[in-house]
Amino acid sequence: MISAVRTPDSVAAAVGHAAAGGWLMAGGTVVMPQVNNGAVGFPELVSLRRAGIGGIELDGPIARVGATTTLAEVEESQELSFLRGAVRTVASPTVRNLATVGGNLFVAQPYGDLAVCLLALDASADITGPGGHREVPVGAVLAGGVASGEVVTAVRLAVPAPGTWFYHKAMRRKLNSAAIVAVAAVVETAAGVVTSARIALGGVAPTPVRAVSAETVLIGRPLESGVLEEAGRAARADIAPFDDAYASAWYRSRVLPVHLRRAFLG
Ligand SMILES: Cc1cc2nc3c(=O)[nH]c(=O)nc-3n(C[C@H](O)[C@H](O)[C@H](O)COP(=O)(O)OP(=O)(O)OC[C@H]3O[C@@H](n4cnc5c(N)ncnc54)[C@H](O)[C@@H]3O)c2cc1C
Repeated sequence: MISAVRTPDSVAAAVGHAAAGGWLMAGGTVVMPQVNNGAVGFPELVSLRRAGIGGIELDGPIARVGATTTLAEVEESQELSFLRGAVRTVASPTVRNLATVGGNLFVAQPYGDLAVCLLALDASADITGPGGHREVPVGAVLAGGVASGEVVTAVRLAVPAPGTWFYHKAMRRKLNSAAIVAVAAVVETAAGVVTSARIALGGVAPTPVRAVSAETVLIGRPLESGVLEEAGRAARADIAPFDDAYASAWYRSRVLPVHLRRAFLG
């Protein structure tokens, strides 16, 4: 039962309230339904809205995206225009007006579409907690969460060079649906063959995962249909798919090669 809602005006104050047992809330699109259901074991909510950790800054090719930046703000930003297509697959405009970048790191799959992108981009997360500040790969946050009282304040990513960013999300509906399979990738080519590849998958494991086996298949080879499907079959070694209302684990695994190919060739 929630007995208080805190709205701290600094990260330090938010950390203090969270360390004392409060539940962090950013956009609240995941937190509030649970509060309304009464299924919450926390005494207090700690809203991050006034903590001063929103906004997008570009320093050369490196973007720093504040944790409370909304998905709608990402969608509208010129700096992160390459992410527009991916963000537009998330829920509806109403939800994207509230949902935040930081919150997307902590939602259960098949949600977490931006988190899949951040994993492919090799983004890092700035974290502040009772023990001070640290910067860790987003992959570490996705795999292990953060410690009690810690707040993600921002993510940092390198904006990919033109033509190297790929994204595809397979859904039951064309828009406003959770992922069956999501593929995000930064892939560089030279002289017609892949020279570097970083691929992340969503919807096919309890957290977003790197498709290292698929990356290995692609290196030194052209981005052609047969090669991509081979990479997609290899990626089955990297996933731990699950059943849910959208698709079975069997189906997710079965269609993975098709959607990996579509991420690159449409
Ligand atoms: C109808 C509907 C459809 C949706 N569809 C999609 C979809 O298609 N794809 C998708 O990815 N998501 C979807 N979502 C889930 C959700 O809206 C997004 O994932 C969103 O980005 C979560 O952000 P939030 O700020 O609302 O999180 P909140 O609800 O505020 O928080 C979620 C969790 O993250 C923690 N948290 C939040 N911010 C921080 C921080 N800075 N530091 C540490 N912990 C933090 C909270 O404590 C909480 O545990 C949907 C939600 C709804 C209601």
